[in-house]
Amino acid sequence: MRRLGVQPQALGVQPQALGVQPQTSSSPPTEEGSRTELSAHTPITGERLLTVPASTAEDVDAAIDRAATAFRDWRTVPAPARGAVVRRLAELLTAHKRDLGELVTLEAGKIPAEAEGEVQEMIDICEFAVGLSRQLYGRTMPSERPGHRLMETWHPLGVVGVISAFNFPVAVWSWNTAVALVCGDTVVWKPSEQTPLTALACHTLLRKAAVESGVDPEVHQLVQGSAEVGARLVDDERVALVSATGSVPMGRTVAPRVAARFGRCLLELGGNNGAVVTPSADLELTARAVVFSAAGTAGQRCTTLRRLIVHEDVVDALVERLEKAYRQLRVGNPFDEGVLVGPLINNRAYTAMGAALAQAGVDGGELVCGGERIEGFGDEAYYVRPAIVRMPAQTAVVRTETFAPILYVLTYTDFDTAIALHNEVPQGLSSAIFTTDQRAAERFLAASGSDCGIANVNIGTSGAEIGGAFGGEKQTGGGRESGSDSWKAYMRRATNTINFSDELPLAQGIEFG
Ligand code: NAD
Repeated sequence: MRRLGVQPQALGVQPQALGVQPQTSSSPPTEEGSRTELSAHTPITGERLLTVPASTAEDVDAAIDRAATAFRDWRTVPAPARGAVVRRLAELLTAHKRDLGELVTLEAGKIPAEAEGEVQEMIDICEFAVGLSRQLYGRTMPSERPGHRLMETWHPLGVVGVISAFNFPVAVWSWNTAVALVCGDTVVWKPSEQTPLTALACHTLLRKAAVESGVDPEVHQLVQGSAEVGARLVDDERVALVSATGSVPMGRTVAPRVAARFGRCLLELGGNNGAVVTPSADLELTARAVVFSAAGTAGQRCTTLRRLIVHEDVVDALVERLEKAYRQLRVGNPFDEGVLVGPLINNRAYTAMGAALAQAGVDGGELVCGGERIEGFGDEAYYVRPAIVRMPAQTAVVRTETFAPILYVLTYTDFDTAIALHNEVPQGLSSAIFTTDQRAAERFLAASGSDCGIANVNIGTSGAEIGGAFGGEKQTGGGRESGSDSWKAYMRRATNTINFSDELPLAQGIEFG
């Protein structure tokens, strides 16, 4: 790890204190598939970094129990006082921004600028949550009865189970945790099995923030492991809300199981994001936005641009610009100066990309550029050139989210067809239109336009700010996290009617006896 310039100790991660027995990659290999150990790898070289203990069934049960116990007191702490721990977390994150960013680069493979951007997003949501701690407003409604008051109050929900994906290993956790904590909930976090070290770092920083703020650190629990560990949170009745971020197949398993026990579910699942480019678009701006959205993070963002729907009058000119830009993209070790595209997370992602490109070829697609593997980083390190493919139609492979940098280009002649193509996928996360035609922009944002949770004008599909609610429709799951009124998902609402008269009038004018 030192060779890559990362020192987890700088983050306050003390593996032994957390029960972790560190092993460097030169240590004897752990038993593959072992129930009790989880290996942290870096996609940069494919090397094993450390192992951490995977949580057993008993560990998960005990973590939920501690979170449920801590909730009993935490819910009674005034919300503005709860904000203090989140404020302290923001300070610690600011102090460790660079260290934590390096760890994100190491485990998820994203370039330092994007990794530090992710940490900044954590700081932003903490600041938002601190402000929110004084704004958990309920409404007062006029009662139809004289001498009565009608109002809503919002109360903490309970234990929130957070299941997160590898590609935003820290930001998604913070969106959930910062908001859940000020709402008075306690949290049990099951991070991706690909990113156990960043999880350990965040958990350690939060517990430090809690202790320094005089708060019970048991308000946050970390359990580590694969889907099996996540499934324990899903099935446990003590977990009031399961907030799950990941692929559509994951959500398809999680949602019915939580529903079967009448728990609450907040789903942030896969996207297949499209952008429409009209003839009036500023092609220079469009090309820059498309390259960042489609090739950034090696195509491994839920909001990555995967489908470009371009008017026939400008498609050749735009593809020419994109091809030129793509050929200049530096792909390589994300720690190296000037690199814009790091590795894919693992062999599975690389294989999926190859299979999708092959299928696109069978479907009549024409590869414009990219798709080839770049060797020389290690047998288990998967670097690819981002690909552009011109497609004659939106075939099944285009309608599927392949979590890799493939941009499919489709052509349209009339605007209605563009909207129809755009919406004709099962996912509904992020979308964009590039145009200088106000009517086209408004039509895209209208009820009959984009069917996604995020719809942008002259901005790519990725890189959302924390102030808005984040999430998507259809198979993306319908959840909303982060800003706006997303906090309501983390609380329960009570409607209160107070009679301050001497009479007992019934609603709807009912006379009883
Ligand atoms: P994944 O679905 O493989 O895993 C996500 C998390 O779910 C992991 O922690 C995993 O262990 C857990 N998990 C998997 N199956 C489970 C089950 N049956 N029960 C409980 N937990 C289970 O996803 P990934 O490969 O880590 O991430 C990439 C996917 O996540 C992409 O589809 C991407 O679009 C999506 N994603 C969505 C958002 C969003 O906000 N909409 C954000 C980031 C990533």
